[in-house]
Amino acid sequence: MRTDTGQVFKLEDYRPNDYLIPQTNLTFRLSPDATRVIALLTIERRDGVSASAPLVLDGDGLTLKRIEIDGKKVKPSDFLASPDQLTILNPPAAHRFQLLIDTELAPAGNEALMGLYRSNNVYCTQCEAEGFRRITYFLDRPDILSVYTVRIEALRDEAPLLLSNGNPLDRGDLGDGWHYARWHDPFPKPSYLFALVAGDLGQLADSFVTLSGRTVELGIYVEAGKEKLAGYAMDALKRSMKWDEEAFGREYDLDVFNIVAVSDFNMGAMENKGLNIFNDKYVLADRETATDADFANIEAIIAHEYFHNWTGNRITCRDWFQLCLKEGLTVFRDHEFSADQRSRAVKRIAEVRTLRAHQFPEDQGPLAHPVRPRRYREINNFYTATVYEKGSEVVRMIRTILGVDAFRAGMDLYFERHDGDAATIEDFVKVFEDASGRDLSQFALWYHQAGTPNLTISSTYNPAAREFTLEIEQSVPPTPSESRKRLMHIPLAFGLIGAGGKAVEYSGVEGASVEEGVIHVRKRRHMVRFSGVAERPAVSLNRGFSAPVTLSVEQKADDQFFLARHDSDAFSRWQAFNTLLTDALISAFREILGGKQADFAARLTELAGSIAGDETLEPAYRALALALPGEADIARDIGRNIDPDAIYAAREALALAIGAASRDAFSVLYLSLADTGAFSPDAASAGRRALRNTLLDYLSLQPGGAALAAGHFQSATNMTDRAAALAVLAHRHHDSPEAIEALAAFETIYGSDPLVMDKWFQIQASVPGPQTVDTVRALTSHPAFSMGNPNRVRSLIGTFSSANQTGFHRADGEGYRFFSQTVLEVEKRNPQVAARLATALRSWRSLEPSRQAKAKEALLSIANAENLSADLRDIVERTLA
Ligand SMILES: [Zn+2]
Repeated sequence: MRTDTGQVFKLEDYRPNDYLIPQTNLTFRLSPDATRVIALLTIERRDGVSASAPLVLDGDGLTLKRIEIDGKKVKPSDFLASPDQLTILNPPAAHRFQLLIDTELAPAGNEALMGLYRSNNVYCTQCEAEGFRRITYFLDRPDILSVYTVRIEALRDEAPLLLSNGNPLDRGDLGDGWHYARWHDPFPKPSYLFALVAGDLGQLADSFVTLSGRTVELGIYVEAGKEKLAGYAMDALKRSMKWDEEAFGREYDLDVFNIVAVSDFNMGAMENKGLNIFNDKYVLADRETATDADFANIEAIIAHEYFHNWTGNRITCRDWFQLCLKEGLTVFRDHEFSADQRSRAVKRIAEVRTLRAHQFPEDQGPLAHPVRPRRYREINNFYTATVYEKGSEVVRMIRTILGVDAFRAGMDLYFERHDGDAATIEDFVKVFEDASGRDLSQFALWYHQAGTPNLTISSTYNPAAREFTLEIEQSVPPTPSESRKRLMHIPLAFGLIGAGGKAVEYSGVEGASVEEGVIHVRKRRHMVRFSGVAERPAVSLNRGFSAPVTLSVEQKADDQFFLARHDSDAFSRWQAFNTLLTDALISAFREILGGKQADFAARLTELAGSIAGDETLEPAYRALALALPGEADIARDIGRNIDPDAIYAAREALALAIGAASRDAFSVLYLSLADTGAFSPDAASAGRRALRNTLLDYLSLQPGGAALAAGHFQSATNMTDRAAALAVLAHRHHDSPEAIEALAAFETIYGSDPLVMDKWFQIQASVPGPQTVDTVRALTSHPAFSMGNPNRVRSLIGTFSSANQTGFHRADGEGYRFFSQTVLEVEKRNPQVAARLATALRSWRSLEPSRQAKAKEALLSIANAENLSADLRDIVERTLA
């Protein structure tokens, strides 16, 4: 484990290394406890660099066995070796030389899951961001691009399958039960994209013919016997390859494309060139074991990693500060892919919900950082919602500002100009300026400035002058180390809607640049005057969520009700209804329910009933609209002095009121959506299941609800329905015989399937109430649970701490105490997963004073632990700062 050195890396300190490594030849002789790695590196001194410049290579916990330069042993006085660094003090005077490094590793003991490790007896690697230095000494930074040739030797019985990046060269027998395979990747790549897999796995094979007619062999490798569960992933891969050709003109470039699913994996998946390695959770699926959400995730993640082949691999990042160059852009691409495969409106709402749930709290708390950070202590902690999700929103805004055609021209220029480069955000923004002739310098602040901008908006209508005025004011709240903010360029899409639901015309506009339904907010304050407006319009703002901002709008409830029924922009219509629900929940939280509020509640429950039954809306959309804002969403909107128990009570009361008001209509609709037994994971079928399960949730709070949910559970023919019913029983009726029986039945059926048992852990970890901390503690001893497996830890501990507001924030602090002990326990094996878990307390300052004090105590108990890893110390100290 790498302990914290306190070193801070700064963007402004970037400079190219004195040396390059144009060729890398690796030989692995695999063995669980003593794998030998021989790296033969062609080292080239950069022009103009003094011949006396030492060569300093990165390492992490390495054991050096031998070192040679140009075939000769290096004298001990000519190098310095420690587990974390290798320095060649006097490199040869020649411009180019060959450096051989022989190291020994113990993959079986590698529980951090970075570098070379074993998952269920399969050798596999994870090198992003800095895992390659755990394999051999190297210039382990993304601007060192090298052509790799890899030879893998292993016992044939133990590892009949030997894979690496690129194309296969040859394979053969070595005698004594050993065999080898060689791979060559012709595309220069950074070390973080290196991959190796060796083991005994089953294969699903297929092929794809590219745009130019080349045949690419496709393979998905999974635990033997589970090949059939990879069918959906293969289908998603082929659709992704086709889509990237059509949408971005990007064709695949190697002869083979392989995906390997492993069960111990820190992240979702990894885009290693030609050899993607996946968390098996994002590969394996069928109706019996996967929910519709799992299918959608598999489709999105397969696409995401595949799209990285161009945005990340062919064009990579100059340094880790540029992480969003590959991630923000590739998330944008996978979002567009899913929108084309499914319903665009539903997809957009889901994206925005995710952004608000994960990125907004980051921006509003102690861990706030710009999409492109300027400094870090541990890069593993910057794989954040800000870099990924907000990074994607920034690319989306570029498209909104430029328009579809100029955006595509900019992307084409990006691929043309930077293919084979390690590029920067400045390079990326420049291609769009060059392709469109627009000045994006103010816009580029989205990359450099942290915090969620707020727009305060009010409107007036002057019937005599036929003039409608929007007064818009922008502000960006301060964030850690950025107290003064500059003004942003915010593309605000809008619509003016008249009484009949039609767009209201206007003849002129002044006060801001307005194009194609978008107001370009650039100044602190704009008075946007629309002339020739015949009636007072309702104004629909931030349509399609054109900018990731918060809005403070002075808008009458009547206008919100109107927009929730009539807005022609599907996103904004959803938003209007969601705002009303949030308002109702916050009002209840503040206990200001009066006569006026009762009327508001009646109008709201009536509107919920009418949206549920609106056949012009697709079922998936209705399901999303009827999903009440989550407890964490409400807490975020309230902002301070949070009491999770009060929020929970308000939310339950609203769910009960909506269900009671539409009980009969919901029952009829619920029955009409009954499962026919046929199954398809497509979006329309998933949408019907989503609506039916949302209705079940409401009906379960009504008389007879537990029996209804139990029946739903017993008659389910797919995992979506079964898991939804189990969650309803466990959450709404947690001590009932029905709930206890269903949990036991689920365990009996799926006890031996770890991925399905993750759902069982998740459902129990998210049961509201003070008793859940005891349940979760007890479940850590369950035979299906393991502290060493990231999926298990995230399902049980991660769900409890990030998705159970009343359980985790238990008033006496027991949730926090359990949490801090567990984070430290996980850290002993896997610092990266522990650091990710620890972010659950990032919003601790918004809690009411008593919980705040207890949360701080828990954070301090982590901070004061001995030998804290760099990963965990970085998160905890920033959270407490
Ligand atoms: Zn990615």
